[in-house]
Amino acid sequence: MIRLNDIVEKLNSYLHLPENDREYIKRAYVYSAKVHAGQKRSSGEPYLSHPLEVTGIIADMKLDVSSVVTGLLHDTVEDTLTSLDEIESLFGKEISFLVDGVTKISQLPYTSKIDEQAESFRKLILATAKDIRVVLIKLADRLHNMRTLEFLGDDRRKRIAKETFEIYAPLAHRFGIYWVRTELEDLSFRFLNNEEYERLFKLIESKKKEWVKYVDEVKGIIDKRLEEFGIKAEITGRFKHIYGIYNKMKVQNLEFDKVFDVIAFRIITSSLRDCYEALGAVHSTWKPVPGRFKDFIALPKVNSYQALHTTVIGPYGERMEIQIRTRRMHEIAEYGVAAHWKYKEGKIESDESYKVYGTLRQLLEWKDIKDPKEFLEAIKGELISDVVYAFTPKGDLKELPIGATPVDFAYTIHTEIGNKCTRAMVNGKLVPLDYKLRSGDTVEIITTSDKYPNRDWLKFVASTRAKNKIRSWLRSEETKQSKLVGKSISERKFKQHGLDFQKMLKKRELDKALSELKFKDVEEFFLAVGFGKVSVVDLLKRIVPESELEQPPEKESRIDKIIKTITRSTEGGVLVRGYDDVMIKFARCCSPLPGEEILGYITRGRGITIHKNDCPQLLDVDPLRRIEVEWDKSYKGFRPAKILVTCTDRPGILTNITSSISTSEINISKAEMHSTDVESAIGTFDIVVSDLEQLENVMKSIKKVEGVLSVERVVGGDEI
Ligand code: MN
Repeated sequence: MIRLNDIVEKLNSYLHLPENDREYIKRAYVYSAKVHAGQKRSSGEPYLSHPLEVTGIIADMKLDVSSVVTGLLHDTVEDTLTSLDEIESLFGKEISFLVDGVTKISQLPYTSKIDEQAESFRKLILATAKDIRVVLIKLADRLHNMRTLEFLGDDRRKRIAKETFEIYAPLAHRFGIYWVRTELEDLSFRFLNNEEYERLFKLIESKKKEWVKYVDEVKGIIDKRLEEFGIKAEITGRFKHIYGIYNKMKVQNLEFDKVFDVIAFRIITSSLRDCYEALGAVHSTWKPVPGRFKDFIALPKVNSYQALHTTVIGPYGERMEIQIRTRRMHEIAEYGVAAHWKYKEGKIESDESYKVYGTLRQLLEWKDIKDPKEFLEAIKGELISDVVYAFTPKGDLKELPIGATPVDFAYTIHTEIGNKCTRAMVNGKLVPLDYKLRSGDTVEIITTSDKYPNRDWLKFVASTRAKNKIRSWLRSEETKQSKLVGKSISERKFKQHGLDFQKMLKKRELDKALSELKFKDVEEFFLAVGFGKVSVVDLLKRIVPESELEQPPEKESRIDKIIKTITRSTEGGVLVRGYDDVMIKFARCCSPLPGEEILGYITRGRGITIHKNDCPQLLDVDPLRRIEVEWDKSYKGFRPAKILVTCTDRPGILTNITSSISTSEINISKAEMHSTDVESAIGTFDIVVSDLEQLENVMKSIKKVEGVLSVERVVGGDEI
């Protein structure tokens, strides 16, 4: 068991401990010993060993005196009769705040239920926001619990290891505390996948002697080379942690023998300039592997990590990873946030240091995430993901998760830029919206005022922000559309019984029935109808006698036909009577073309889908959800169509077919041809046409091509 003096010694190595702080720590120690007296840990050790070890870790993390005092007291409120008030009166407000924070995190319920788990993480992050020391102390607590995990039962062991792996190790990574992160990863790995852990552990042990020899040899070469360059530096070579090696094997699908860069060499220099000179020395000794050089000095990682990374071909033709950084950068890499703290005796100089910086803060802004699953996904993604940096045309730097696309980029500028983004230029070249950005890219977003987010964007965006913004737009659009649809269904159903919904609404004849159905207002009712949660009949029943409801619906009156409702064009060249603002989608199953009879189907929340009116899919749907639509004759647009051509397999036939399509002034978006046997071949052509007539004409002219056996139109493809 670590002694109090050892802890004080650790503290003195990085801050100057005043005499009264020494007393303060001692007081906390005596108090903790008193209230935990008689308690034992699962290992059989006296309970006090735990707060002491945790405090030792806190000192290893180079935290302040308040954190150390909190470490000693962290379990008193939870596990003894001590109250928070007592802690406050004995040790002050700051300590009681920290103890309370740590206790609250410890009490977050473990559950496999995803929404409860999400709520726990949300609290954890909220705690972090106020004072990161709470989470740093909790990390120390968790690290000691992981070190002694073997004394717990198998179930609890697995659960704690899993939580550590998913949440605490990434948090340590986010705070930049390398040694805590790697130890947490190795310990979780050991309990989650014991077999693999033991196997690798033994393999590594068997190689150690060889590796140590190799490290000495390489260090010798670098040392000599740096001396020639006149650079003073410290060189270390250390083995990657077991989980790191395992992960490398998994990601690159390698056997243990094939993982060469298990050793990371580090050159620690005394100045920034020496870093780049040392890099030159290394690259002039061994050939660098192209694409593996990374300058995290110019572009630090999100957790402020800085270094030069390179991979070279080493003395035995093996890949060798070398990291070069200054002493200061090294401290930041090892100690993370705490390395930024400046101590004035036992205290941190500025209160600001306790606060969260960077993207972690953004986690807190996600108040509008309703779905716990989304939240969980987001938080895990944000904790684990690394970043790319891209520039605006004006040179502003934007930080994005790996895999980010121009759409993600657009949303970091402004929600409206994201919502209306249509095209993107990267480094002056037009790229698709799902292009994966790389660090250093300059991104220009082109917007169009009548563009809206596309559901498909969700498939490729990488940032939480973009995902949330797109989802929230789709959700509000869905609500809007559902209300429209609900309104349409209600009016039509009423009309079938000779009633005018709007008139009755105005005369307040529906108020009573609506409130009986527990609707606040008619909008809410429309929404429920639109989503299919309630039937209009439920409302009608309260207004019309049951006997009348059973009568067959009346036919549309002549007057109705004469007084055509105002129709207006909507996107895609389809007119929907009565609606000028409804979303239109063409059904993939039948992919109708202008010139064909069509019918609309009112979907739940996604506007109206246009089918051919003899489409078999329509037969299965609720007749009430069908709506009359017509082609907008004034619309000058194009629709995709697919044709299938069977022909003899003679040279040049594809050219003949495509040229016959082109002479009809029709654009081909895709052409594919494959042989079926020696004699014949099948070609598919994706084209765009203005209407059915044009399609029929082009099919006729293809038929005339020599060797063409048949021409058919295909529907139900995916490119509609
Ligand atoms: Mn504890």
